[in-house]
Amino acid sequence: MIAINMIALGVAAHPDDLDFGASGTFAKWAKEGAECYYLICTNGCKGSDDPKMTEKKLIKIRREEQIRAGKVIGLKGVFFLDHNDTELVADLKLKKEIVRHIRRLRPDVVVTLDPTMVYSKSRGYVNHTDHRAAGQAAMDAVFPLARDRLTFKELEKEGLKPHKVKSLYLINFDDHNEVVDITGTINQKIRALECHASQISKESLGWVRKRSQLAAKGKRYKYAEAFVRLNMR
Ligand SMILES: [Zn+2]
Repeated sequence: MIAINMIALGVAAHPDDLDFGASGTFAKWAKEGAECYYLICTNGCKGSDDPKMTEKKLIKIRREEQIRAGKVIGLKGVFFLDHNDTELVADLKLKKEIVRHIRRLRPDVVVTLDPTMVYSKSRGYVNHTDHRAAGQAAMDAVFPLARDRLTFKELEKEGLKPHKVKSLYLINFDDHNEVVDITGTINQKIRALECHASQISKESLGWVRKRSQLAAKGKRYKYAEAFVRLNMR
C-alpha cells in the first residue's frame, strides 16, 4: 500500500515505454492518491514503417498519444525532453535535464527502464539503445546527482534544492524482486496502450495481458507488473 501523499515519476525513452512496462502500477498508485508524472526523453520520431509517415507528423501524433494515455492512467502531468529518437545518449546534459525534473517534482519513487538489460539470448532480443540510455541517465540522476548539493550548484540557485529519492523501480522483463498486483488496473493499462495507436497491434495487447498474467504466476491475483526495486539508503 502506498502513502497517500506519495509522488511518483516515470522516466523513459519513448512515448509508450512506461505504458507497456508500468502503467498498471502508476494507475494503481494514482487511484490510491499518489501524484504521478511521466518524463519522456525522446520524441519517438523513428517509430513507424508507414511509407507516408514523416518524422514531423509522427512526433506530434506520439506526443498526443502519450498525453491521452496519461489521462487514462490518471497522471498529473507528462513532460517531454524531445531528444531525437535513436540518438539518446546518457551524457551529463541528459542527466541534468532529469535532475531538474527530480528536484522540481521531488518524487518518493522513480520508475525507469533497467539499463542492465542489454539483450536476451532466450528471446533473441536487443534492448533499444534509447531504453538503455534513458535508464542509465535516470539511475545516475537519482543517485548521486539529484541528491548532492554540490552537483549542479546552479540548480540550487534557481530554488531547485537537492532531493533524495526513496525507491527506484527498474522495468526488467527477465528479473525482478517486486511484484505489483495490477488486477484492478489492467483494463486501464490496456486502454492506455490503445491510445498509442501508431505503435500497437491487437497482437501486442494480447502479449501484454499474457505477460501480466505470467508476472502474477503463483500469486492470488491475476495480473501483475514486475520490477527490480531498490530501496535507496
Ligand atoms: Zn521504446
